[in-house]
Amino acid sequence: MCNNSLEIGHDFEDRMNEVAVRFAQAADGAPYVVYAILDPTKTDPKKRYQALPFYVGETKNPHGRAIDHIRRALAQKDKYQSAKSEIYRLILANQLPRFIVLERCSTRAQSLEAELRWSQQLLKWNYSLSNCLPGQSRIISKLHYQRLIANRLWKLTMAEAHAAGITITELCPSGCYRKVVELSACAASESSGRKLASLKETIAACSGCQSEPTIVIAEQNGSQTSWKRPSHSTIHLPRLRSPHRR
Ligand SMILES: [Zn+2]
Repeated sequence: MCNNSLEIGHDFEDRMNEVAVRFAQAADGAPYVVYAILDPTKTDPKKRYQALPFYVGETKNPHGRAIDHIRRALAQKDKYQSAKSEIYRLILANQLPRFIVLERCSTRAQSLEAELRWSQQLLKWNYSLSNCLPGQSRIISKLHYQRLIANRLWKLTMAEAHAAGITITELCPSGCYRKVVELSACAASESSGRKLASLKETIAACSGCQSEPTIVIAEQNGSQTSWKRPSHSTIHLPRLRSPHRR
């Protein structure tokens, strides 16, 4: 199974499957969950969890995600990705990571928000996380947090955005037109897996005034984020001034 010196017990597959099944049961049928991976060889000094948490993630498929984490660690394709190294170290010690559910969510928009919120919470509780993204590996400012929360919406697919009741409006900043993107149609079509970020590439300049259009994404709770393609013709680089020397 593996071409390195790691010896895997014959019951490894069963144990791995057991861990994944337990995780899926804890999800209790929720469409999405935010989870933490625990290291069973280390105790939680704060006694909040059964063992020490070292990673926070979100998934709609807990069973598959748990298996994936373990298999990827085993394959060691990226030794320097620290969550994989942590899991690999556990496997070497004949242990497996544990997966616990931190929060059950009904949409991906919610689970991405909860993933960031939980990561920050655990970091503030002084746990160190081996996640790579800045919002999940270190404590960030309130402003940075809000920006990441807004930016997460671009990661959603058309279908996920539709499920979260999100509204997308495309408009000309000069007021020539304003149209709502038909997410229900997109979600039902072959473009349902397209990420909202792809709208930034396909959107065309206003046919009336040639202005670069704006995309506004609004969530059901009223919060919104907008994006406008930088128009190259109006970028003026500041002229360099020679420093005053005396
Ligand atoms: Zn226009």
